[in-house]
Amino acid sequence: MSFSRFNALSTIEERSRGETSPAPTKNGSIASFYGCNVFNDEVMREYLPKDIYNSLRKGIRAGQKISREYADVVASAMKRWAMDRGVTHYTHWFQPLTGRTAEKHDSFFTLTPSGEVIEEFNGDSLAQQEPDGSSFPGGGLRSTFEARGYTAWDPSSPAFIIEIGEGKTLCIPTIFVTYSGESLDYKLPLLKSQSFLEEAAIPVCQLFDPSVDKVTATLGWEQEYFLVDEALFNARPDLILTGRTLLGKNSPKGQQLDDHYFGSIPDRVYAFMIDMETECHKLGIPVRTRHNEVGPGQYELAPMFEEVNVAVDHNQLLMDLMDRIARRHAFRVLLHEKPFAGVNGSGKHNNWSMATNTGVNLLSPGKTPGKNLRFLTFFMNTIQAVYRYADVLRASVASAANDHRLGANEAPPAIVSVFIGDTLSKVLDDIEAGIDATAQGVKDVLDLLAKIPNLELDNTDRNRTSPFAFTGNKFEIRMVGSSTNCAGPMTVMNTMMGRQLVDFKKEVDKLTKKGKDKDSAILAVIKGYITESKRIRFEGDGYSDSWKKEAAKRGLGNMPNTPDALKAYISKQGKDLFVKSGVFSEKEIEAHYEVMCENYILKLQIESRTLGELVINHILPVAIRYQTTLADNIQQLMAIDLNKSAYATQLDLVKKISKNINDIQKEVEKMTTARKKANALEHAPDTAKAYCEKVRPFIESIRLHCDRLEYLVDDQEWPLVKYREMMFIR
Ligand code: ADP
Ligand code: MG
Repeated sequence: MSFSRFNALSTIEERSRGETSPAPTKNGSIASFYGCNVFNDEVMREYLPKDIYNSLRKGIRAGQKISREYADVVASAMKRWAMDRGVTHYTHWFQPLTGRTAEKHDSFFTLTPSGEVIEEFNGDSLAQQEPDGSSFPGGGLRSTFEARGYTAWDPSSPAFIIEIGEGKTLCIPTIFVTYSGESLDYKLPLLKSQSFLEEAAIPVCQLFDPSVDKVTATLGWEQEYFLVDEALFNARPDLILTGRTLLGKNSPKGQQLDDHYFGSIPDRVYAFMIDMETECHKLGIPVRTRHNEVGPGQYELAPMFEEVNVAVDHNQLLMDLMDRIARRHAFRVLLHEKPFAGVNGSGKHNNWSMATNTGVNLLSPGKTPGKNLRFLTFFMNTIQAVYRYADVLRASVASAANDHRLGANEAPPAIVSVFIGDTLSKVLDDIEAGIDATAQGVKDVLDLLAKIPNLELDNTDRNRTSPFAFTGNKFEIRMVGSSTNCAGPMTVMNTMMGRQLVDFKKEVDKLTKKGKDKDSAILAVIKGYITESKRIRFEGDGYSDSWKKEAAKRGLGNMPNTPDALKAYISKQGKDLFVKSGVFSEKEIEAHYEVMCENYILKLQIESRTLGELVINHILPVAIRYQTTLADNIQQLMAIDLNKSAYATQLDLVKKISKNINDIQKEVEKMTTARKKANALEHAPDTAKAYCEKVRPFIESIRLHCDRLEYLVDDQEWPLVKYREMMFIR
């Protein structure tokens, strides 16, 4: 018998009998501690001289570089504030292409040449650092002689304090670049895309309101995750090493009854959630909603939306926090896109829109009809942008883990389409069919738009199967995976929208130069987009096979796996988009592509090796032992001269077990050979393709045999925690 599974089960039993998880700390009203660990506006006002505070705010708002002189003053204020809170260390906090966050802590404490202890933190330490980042993925951007990476302060995202037990560290959000300034992270491209979008959007906004001088992209993410008891997690080597179960027969009861979705939250989970929310609030992460999701053991939380780069930082910070806080409650959080076969995976919807300094949400149909042409402009430009750059958007959510989700009849398909609902579809159809781009036409359009009901409240025709859906006052990108850094898809969203708005403005200008009035010119261009982008609009069931056929007929891309999907980054169109907008240089996008291929390879390599070990060390020995027990039993029955019918069941079982054992052994060998061949290929994209086409199928087929064995072998012998145990025992 295997100790780990049964030990784990008895640990849980004891836990549910007495040992409860720590009660959440009582902190009083959220307002009394919200943001207490953030170097936010209020703190800056308190700790900085007034003139410096004012210039810093202005600089941040305009996205300007902070001068060295100011950096010293800000550093000194940050240090005072942090030390007032018991902070001893600081770190530059950054987002390398591994997908998570990185930090290297330094102490404020230092010794002077005369041996005196002082606490030091100056503008230099704030502005730039040189962590020895040579092990972070760089996709060939760093030659070996200049392997260092540099982190540089991003003043647009506030510094914060991370508390772990008694330890407190000041974290400074930074970008991560090479010696010559090429991006090695997710943040620099995101910040560049934000500026690019802003520059493109302002002139378009000014067509409607000359007082607009700032536009920001907004992001509200929704994070899905699974919780598993720590004891059970530790008894599953595959969960520990790969974040998902590589083996495991479906539980007879899964999510069929939908009895978990929005159900009451179990006590232990509730304690975890409250604890996590408190930590989030201290860090100024505005989380608001929590609920059970569809999968048993699956949950979701969502904050209020924020400016995109702050929202991205907050999501990265949250994923880190969740992991830490789950451990306090003897849980492990699974952020993998598909931890369990046969049960819904986890996504991270990215709700995206744009806001102006005048307080307008550019994707919100305003109540005043005259303003709705602006709504229609931004709405149609978004659709046109997605239509033009669908493949690049698809590439931005590609990962080995997300491949299990997209197209798996639970998450949006790998085909990008846009859902806008009946009301707006009808508006667009009417404009296309019967309205001319004249002054009267503009009036007709405004009348049409004035008649539409309040879309924000009108959620009746929501389509959950769409990868890109308009939900009243924002677009919701549903293809993003639960563990993905939102910066990837957000960078693409901002860039393609920026590019689209630049082109839109040019087209409108061309028409006005020819003498058309402004509004009719806008309508003329929009009408063109309605016709052109119609192919990408789809209101039906995205899970259906008929859609796959229809999409192929319409010429839409369908890229179910990562190596194929990623190619859009370095296609002619992808490079043109990124290079012309200044978001990536050609060298940078090639390097990012390379890193994404590498990540894919490494994930599959680890899965394949883990599976091989699990099968050889855990599954086969148990199956063979049980086979021996059955064979012994048959022999004993034969010895007392019973006829064959007396041991027919045993014989049948032995045969089935034998067959699976042999098949498994053969396939593990074939998988190892395929892996070696893939590893020997010189270029990462070729290796990635080989892993996808030659290795991955074995990961699936070996699982099938193992799951059959799980069904056949004595439960008392089975070494791995079973699905029903992971999902339903709390
Ligand atoms: P749902 O029914 O999808 O949960 P919600 O209105 O609760 O709809 O919004 C879901 C997410 O959308 C939240 O994270 C919220 O902050 C975000 N959101 C709302 N408005 C915007 C906006 N203008 N820009 C970006 N995100 C937004
Ligand atoms: Mg939503």
